[in-house]
Amino acid sequence: MSERCKEGKYTEEEQKIGEWIRDLSARSYRGWKAFYHTREWKKKRTEILERDHYGCTMCRAKGKYTRADTVHHVKHLKDAPELALDDGNLMSLCASCHDEVHKGETRDGRERFSTPERW
Ligand SMILES: [Zn+2]
Ligand SMILES: [Zn+2]
Repeated sequence: MSERCKEGKYTEEEQKIGEWIRDLSARSYRGWKAFYHTREWKKKRTEILERDHYGCTMCRAKGKYTRADTVHHVKHLKDAPELALDDGNLMSLCASCHDEVHKGETRDGRERFSTPERW
């Protein structure tokens, strides 16, 4: 979709997306979750699931097929809203792999993990 220059550098289009999402989350009572209710995300989510043939990519790497029901952001929405709609930052996962991926992040107790990506 877009050429990546360097880590931490975004194209103009990505910066626009980042601004849009920051603005969206700042104005909505849903905060960051507001993004998961946008038409843009729902469309992209379906695209990624179709790309991955509705299968979990982590399970596939282990040689088994599990139906994916979540599209996960490799770089989190909050950390890199610029990449919220970037194909390279998105992967289809089943519920248990998705929990696995996020498990390490809840240990410091900063934030209880909820999974709006599944919607
Ligand atoms: Zn899986
Ligand atoms: Zn996730």
